[in-house]
Amino acid sequence: MIRLAELKLPLSALEYHPENHTEFLPEARLRALAAERLGIAADAIAQLHVFKRSFDARQKTELLAVYIVDIRLVDESQEAALLAQFDDHSHVNPTPDMTWTPVGHAPADLKHRPVVVGFGPCGMFAALVLAQMGFKPIVLERGKTVRERTKDTWRLWRKRELTPESNVQFGEGGAGTFSDGKLYSQIKDPRYLGRKVLTEFVTYGAPEEILYAAHPHIGTFKLVKLVEGIREEICRLGGEIRFESKVTDITIEGEGDARKVSALQVLNQATGDSYTLTTDQVVMALGHSARDTFTMFYERGVYMEAKPFSIGFRIEHPQSVIDQARWGKFAGHPFLGAADYKLVHHAKNGRAVYSFCMCPGGTVVAATSEPERVVTNGMSQYSRAERNANAGMVCAIEPSDYPQDAKSFAWAFDGKTFGVENQAPGSYHPLSGVVFQRQLESKAYLLGGRNYNAPGQLVGDFVAGNASADVGGVPPSYKPGITWGNLHHALPAFAIEAMREALPAFGKKIRGYDMHDAVLTGVETRTSSPVKIARGANFQSVNTRGLYPAGEGASYAGGILSAGVDGIKVGEAVAAAILGVEVPS
Ligand code: FAD
Repeated sequence: MIRLAELKLPLSALEYHPENHTEFLPEARLRALAAERLGIAADAIAQLHVFKRSFDARQKTELLAVYIVDIRLVDESQEAALLAQFDDHSHVNPTPDMTWTPVGHAPADLKHRPVVVGFGPCGMFAALVLAQMGFKPIVLERGKTVRERTKDTWRLWRKRELTPESNVQFGEGGAGTFSDGKLYSQIKDPRYLGRKVLTEFVTYGAPEEILYAAHPHIGTFKLVKLVEGIREEICRLGGEIRFESKVTDITIEGEGDARKVSALQVLNQATGDSYTLTTDQVVMALGHSARDTFTMFYERGVYMEAKPFSIGFRIEHPQSVIDQARWGKFAGHPFLGAADYKLVHHAKNGRAVYSFCMCPGGTVVAATSEPERVVTNGMSQYSRAERNANAGMVCAIEPSDYPQDAKSFAWAFDGKTFGVENQAPGSYHPLSGVVFQRQLESKAYLLGGRNYNAPGQLVGDFVAGNASADVGGVPPSYKPGITWGNLHHALPAFAIEAMREALPAFGKKIRGYDMHDAVLTGVETRTSSPVKIARGANFQSVNTRGLYPAGEGASYAGGILSAGVDGIKVGEAVAAAILGVEVPS
């Protein structure tokens, strides 16, 4: 097949049926464009398949849909000659092979079933590919099934009651279940593993459009359904998923190069019983909020380091302001949906401020997993029809910003200091990012009024340095509520200074971004993992064999798609280790 890029059509050529969100692909027009590009007759094309579709809004008078298509010629034997003819044309190439090939099949005498800890996108895809290769994995997930978890999560939003083991961060589907469900990523993916993730999602109920939209998303409700579908498939293939099963300890045998995992301690949270699970292959797909498990790993000597992440606030605008700035006269066109944005500003104090996890037409959510702490994040439904756009507005920080003193550690870890007193000057304690996150989230809880309200401020007041007393023209969406005041106290001075500078700069890129009544709520601290649990080329921990740190918690992914891709890679690596074959590269 031949892949053709940069085929452009005006928006007016496209047909959209808003009543059922159906987009009709303008196949005849695309065939004509493809034939013209290749200098062949349109009827020489037997098959045309859209690989990607994006929009180009750079010309304000004409908005263009831009396609990448794959075509098969009626006479397939002519394809090689045609490709040779366009050898130096960057928009004409052979269609790559995007099929996923299993590493092998599980042996009949498998000694221990591989264990996957965590059933977020990373653990889900590790378990799925292991199940597809016949390894019958056991999945341990500390939280509840997605339906039960939904009730617990809403209880915090509606009644201010947090369930520490079942919330936005923990439970079936992982952190992104109550999200915007954005399904794109900047990762390098030469093996098209992202395609496998999206294809599996479509198999279990995601709309087919996610396969070709440049910025696909599915929203919360559809995610819930497809998570259940993938769970059922893993079980059908002989896998097992144990919910409310928290890994509380790990047994490691041997020293030096012989150091390896031999068992896990598992707490059944429903019954309170604990048991030992013997295993020699463990995928640890914990997510960025498993602070107790990071701490346990640290105490057991698993190698990890502190790593940079970002802190800030959520910002909310009327979605119409963003649509107008992005799409101009085309704003509101049903084909385009609610517009997104991506912004970055390099502040004079050396800090970068950028938008994070933008949710068009969505809501700001309470995302803590720990009592008496406040964290914000964002989610939306597939329709993205809520009145506000929200995004994290965050400032990049480094381990040198984290507290290293014994007092802060003792406060954050209930009296434990982990030998921080002996920390060598200039080195950073692996858990110091966790200490910093806890400090900021506890402060936000106090500023919010100790009832899970988020502290909030209007953008105009924030820039001017005045406390806000009440809502303005943009009703905030965060539940359970907002306590108005001064967010200057919520983050370190360097972050506040950088954000105050960034807001007017962003207003120059998106008109209205720095409008007085836009709303800031905080704090946004779970932007990525505060630790890196390093692994080697075989995907195993650099100092503990049989332990596969994976996904966002170990700092090998950031977002649903990249976590799914990492899950596939790690599942393959486990299979390769058991079968004694090379890890695919
Ligand atoms: P997680 O999804 O965090 O899953 C880890 C799982 O491990 C959890 O279910 C947890 O309960 C379990 N676990 C932890 N410790 C233990 C233990 N000791 N024993 C047993 N189980 C354990 N990303 C996007 O790409 N698009 C978005 O639109 C998007 N929106 C988001 C909105 C919100 C509100 C949040 C919180 C995140 C959002 N993200 C989004 C980020 C995305 O969810 C994460 O990047 C992704 O889920 C990471 O996947 P993971 O599998 O590595 O970890």
